Amino acid sequence: MQNMVDGVLYKNTVKTLTAVAESINLDKDVLVRLLKPRRAFIVSVPVRMDDHSIQVFDGYRVQHNQTLGPCKGGIRYHPSVNMTEVAALAMLMTFKNALLHLPLGGAKGGVCVDPSKLSETEMQGLTRRYTTEIHPFIGPERDIPAPDVGTSPQTMAWIMDTYSQKEGFSIPGVVTGKPLEIGGSLGRVSATGLGSIYALRAACEKTDRSLEGMKIAIQGFGNVGSHAAMSAHERGAKIVAVSDVIGGIHNSNGLDIPKLVEHYEKNRSLSDFPDTETLSNADLLELKCDALLPAALDSVIHEENADKIKAEIIVEGANGPVTGAADKILSENGKLIIPDILANGGGVIVSYFEWVQGLAAFFWTEEEVNHRLHSIITNAFDRVWSFSQSQKCTMRDAAMAVALRRLEAAMQLRGLYPR
Ligand code: GLU
Repeated sequence: MQNMVDGVLYKNTVKTLTAVAESINLDKDVLVRLLKPRRAFIVSVPVRMDDHSIQVFDGYRVQHNQTLGPCKGGIRYHPSVNMTEVAALAMLMTFKNALLHLPLGGAKGGVCVDPSKLSETEMQGLTRRYTTEIHPFIGPERDIPAPDVGTSPQTMAWIMDTYSQKEGFSIPGVVTGKPLEIGGSLGRVSATGLGSIYALRAACEKTDRSLEGMKIAIQGFGNVGSHAAMSAHERGAKIVAVSDVIGGIHNSNGLDIPKLVEHYEKNRSLSDFPDTETLSNADLLELKCDALLPAALDSVIHEENADKIKAEIIVEGANGPVTGAADKILSENGKLIIPDILANGGGVIVSYFEWVQGLAAFFWTEEEVNHRLHSIITNAFDRVWSFSQSQKCTMRDAAMAVALRRLEAAMQLRGLYPR
């Protein structure tokens, strides 16, 4: 589940952006600005390891665009993190926020590290030093990080504390995805998974399918995959397979998801779960099912396996799980792909709610959060669906087109400084 070929996500993102810009006749001055990030930082992150030696990790933060509001996007801790990947992910955040009508720009950050190899103390040291290095460039009005692959509410708590210590007072608005006790929002942890199921349900309604009884395979059982599995299970779908980095499990009659979540929390492993057969991550993608939800890393569906995908609907829970070449093959095979900037938008939507609740110092119930999440995702889904139907294009191109039109209008209104 690695980003196999360096730069694939960046190349794909730029390719889609350029092709869609051309097809909708986007203002050329807007396109040239969107093709490059506004700012990109590389920082060294020295960490005192438990054996007292010092290791230096490479950290990144890319602020792609801030026309619509402060920059916003997660921080990723993973061995495949590099400047090219972070730049692509920052671009995707700009388009995601524009598509969802959030008053936010796009950013992403990360540290090239394998978090499973670090102790809790080392993780804390790494996070606090990384925050110190990017401190001048972040803040509730500037750039607001959040969790992503390999980071958690605890990571956000350390970032918030480090930033606040430097400023001399508490500033919860500097990050979202915080634990509830220090200003987090109800519903934030489950938001990305739940949002992806809201998007799938919207697709079912448009195509005369039903989520109830639908067979779904999910790659990844982290924050996105496990909550997507729970949300779909609660709505009557059958989760026939799930996997983590090690591999997956399968039962064509559906897995008992609440029990599996308990099992996974206890053992940190999917193996030995009763009434299941094991399968590899590659086999999970090719399984016979109605919907496939890749919720791990990018580029897992590529030119070589795209033809073997049997699911009719692909919901991009991860960022960029389908490469450009695979996208073409899948579309020719009549598959419906709900693109990442729509399907996994639930996370940043509830991050936005958390930021708003923090600024107002007034907190909402989980029902209010989920109700508003549902309305933003389904409205965005409708905009993308209508565009794709009227222009006879894929949902990915439609999502990009709708986002670009909004950015174009805003960039033209604000103009270029100094002239
Ligand atoms: N990392 C998530 C994403 O890719 C959430 C970003 C956020 O909440 O700011 O959308």
